[in-house]
Amino acid sequence: MISHLPNVRYLTGFTGSNGILLLSASQAILFTDPRYDLQAHEECDCRVRIERGPAWDAVWKYAARRSRTIALEADHVSHAVWDQAAQRLGRGVKLKPLGGAVERLRRVKEPEEVEAIESSAQLCAAAFAQAMRRLRPGVTENDAAAEIEFRMRRLGAEGPAFETIVAAGARAALPHARPGAAKIAPGQPVLADMGASLGGYMSDMTRMVHMGAPPKEFLGWYNAVLEAQQAALAAVRAGVAARRVDAAARKTLKARGLDRYFTHSTGHGVGLEIHEGPRVGARSEDVLEAGMVVTVEPGIYLPGKTGIRIEDTVLVTGTGARILTPASKELMVLES
Ligand code: ZN
Ligand code: ZN
Repeated sequence: MISHLPNVRYLTGFTGSNGILLLSASQAILFTDPRYDLQAHEECDCRVRIERGPAWDAVWKYAARRSRTIALEADHVSHAVWDQAAQRLGRGVKLKPLGGAVERLRRVKEPEEVEAIESSAQLCAAAFAQAMRRLRPGVTENDAAAEIEFRMRRLGAEGPAFETIVAAGARAALPHARPGAAKIAPGQPVLADMGASLGGYMSDMTRMVHMGAPPKEFLGWYNAVLEAQQAALAAVRAGVAARRVDAAARKTLKARGLDRYFTHSTGHGVGLEIHEGPRVGARSEDVLEAGMVVTVEPGIYLPGKTGIRIEDTVLVTGTGARILTPASKELMVLES
């Protein structure tokens, strides 16, 4: 029983907001409601059942008569649904947790998926370039983030892949800062972390901008992060343990005494969701495979001073990383 919508979409093509997929060795049935009658028949090759009542009710009714064992997506199904299943299916049907089976399939992308992610990444880079032409001191972080998201929509995205982060000055020291009403001031560095959603596929990119010429100290930090990112990118290849990529970034920062300011992991998979497998961190057990799409995003966060992160979305190949986010990593210096 597949109920996590990105998994349903992956297996059937269905893009609606209510759908449960029942898979057996011999058939696939999508349960949804009348709002999606036309759409589901258009998008899916599998059988479609349109239910007027709650989809889960219909699923239990259907399954109780035909199944002996049902696997539920334990990572995504609520305790309430699990209880309901036990009650409605009765003793004759065994419930089993289905741990990340579809997620594992999704980690290696088909060529069409890579194309979709690349289009999303190109759109994201174009939106960023357009938005940066309007960035000047006095603009708030909120306005800058809105401008990036507006440009994404104008360029054809369904929307941002996640809430765009724009953080200036010391606020950039919070890795997941929410853009606020603070005005961007002359002399400040600005961190922008953004991604587009296009055809259901996500992209993820972080770039730094500096309002006016950066001081030497900042340039030193920036170059250290850039070097760490390049070392991590150079480590990406099919067959390499993902934690090696993380180690490459950390080692480079350690040589500059900055590793203790690198407080998150180096990257994550990207696809139908903004965060998916594999993990690219110090404790990751994952091994990179050709066709995986991951981010490489080391950063340093200096409390009270600033934060610097550089992030690309890349395709893992047999020979290395192919960068999908086509934006220059030379520090962008804007008039201030
Ligand atoms: Zn990001
Ligand atoms: Zn990311």
